[in-house]
Amino acid sequence: MKKVKILCTIGPSSSLEKLLKKMYLAGMNGARINTAYGTKEEYSLTINRLRGIGEIPIVLDIKGPELRIKTSSEIALKNGEILKIGKNEQVALNHNVYSELAVGDMVLIDNGRINTRVIQKDNAVLTLLAKTSGYISDGKGVNIPDKKLAIPAITKKDQELMDFAKDNEIEFVALSFTRNAHDVNCLRKSVSGGFKGLIIAKIENSEGVENFQEILEVADGIMVARGDLGVEIEPEKVPLVQKRIIKQCNQKGKLVLTATEMLESMMYNPFPNRAEVSDVANAILDGTDVITLSGETAVGKYPLETVIAASKIAIETEKAVESHLREESFVNISNTISKAISRLCQEMPIDKVVTLTRSGYTARMISRFKIPQPIIAVTPSRLVKKQLELSFGVYPVHIDYTEAQDHILCSGLKLHSNGLILDQDTILFTAAVRTHKKHSSNLIEIHKVSELKTQEKAWSNN
Ligand code: PGA
Ligand code: MN
Repeated sequence: MKKVKILCTIGPSSSLEKLLKKMYLAGMNGARINTAYGTKEEYSLTINRLRGIGEIPIVLDIKGPELRIKTSSEIALKNGEILKIGKNEQVALNHNVYSELAVGDMVLIDNGRINTRVIQKDNAVLTLLAKTSGYISDGKGVNIPDKKLAIPAITKKDQELMDFAKDNEIEFVALSFTRNAHDVNCLRKSVSGGFKGLIIAKIENSEGVENFQEILEVADGIMVARGDLGVEIEPEKVPLVQKRIIKQCNQKGKLVLTATEMLESMMYNPFPNRAEVSDVANAILDGTDVITLSGETAVGKYPLETVIAASKIAIETEKAVESHLREESFVNISNTISKAISRLCQEMPIDKVVTLTRSGYTARMISRFKIPQPIIAVTPSRLVKKQLELSFGVYPVHIDYTEAQDHILCSGLKLHSNGLILDQDTILFTAAVRTHKKHSSNLIEIHKVSELKTQEKAWSNN
């Protein structure tokens, strides 16, 4: 069983059900829908297709304060040429930020390929001077580094998408260009009656990096969005930011995803280049839960080959992953018990860890220690089961043990009949007993599976 999880962005290259099924069998653990493209009707089709294949969690990536070009034409802009942008111009932006820009500001278009500067400002029309050449078309990304723009955290379109996410019981929503904790809180509160999915904050500009600590407190997971991040801050700063973010997410047991250009050359080739293989392996060694594939699986020529390559790198590298957690003072019972479990797993010949979890919290707490044993997370919630599909080393299973007299015995026997634990296995079980408090897994039991079966016989004879 592969420990590192693979998230595939779905697009025109991966829309066929047959192909999606192959990608799933090759190691795809989750699917990302990028709402920069497509319509809700198209997302619904993708969601239905994915749900027909298996219990695949979906990450709906909403664009929040992301800046994009709005135009109906394609323009070739050459170095030294001038471009006017404004609400009523041929080229506009998706957010009304014109008045916040000043002469001298840098405006980057299409992943930084087109470098321009504001040389004139008349009312709300900006004149840009191009310093490099490129093509401008609708939807191209725009970056204005080092400028804190007053764009609302969620637009009308995002609000509609949040309602869509709620109606469709989407497992994760990712918020692009998260700037602070307030952005995450706004998103969480935006759905009336609450949103049960988890929120992933995408860190992709300097504000997100600066405010990372407060974002980490309120988000359920973090994506190191290296594409925009490498334009908004200097690209040479990205590797250390990636390492720092992953380390801090691991420390708190929050989900962490590394994204963009992971196997970029596989957009055009059926094999990765050496530097990309190393990059993916290094993200795994840093401690990422998830390898995110973007254009490779959405619009590339070789989506299946990319998933196979990512899986191979994961399986080869994950054996060497170690935890680098700092000692910390008391947080809660589950947190403490997860430390004890990681010690026991080092000292004793334990084959598998089984955690009975309602919210998924204890499973993630154990996952952060990167123990060599598989972590089987048994949960009565179908939603939590799917959310745990993205956590490192966690194999979630849906079992409703809540009605049983003995939760551990019930779960153990079910797992045995499913073939997930075997007669000769020594299993460490953990659960919360005689409490309904959150984050309070307070029990550890270690059993041979055969012992559980003997106990079941004794019970049924009584
Ligand atoms: P995007 O985000 O693919 O939605 O732009 C990821 C990134 O910027 O790296
Ligand atoms: Mn981005």
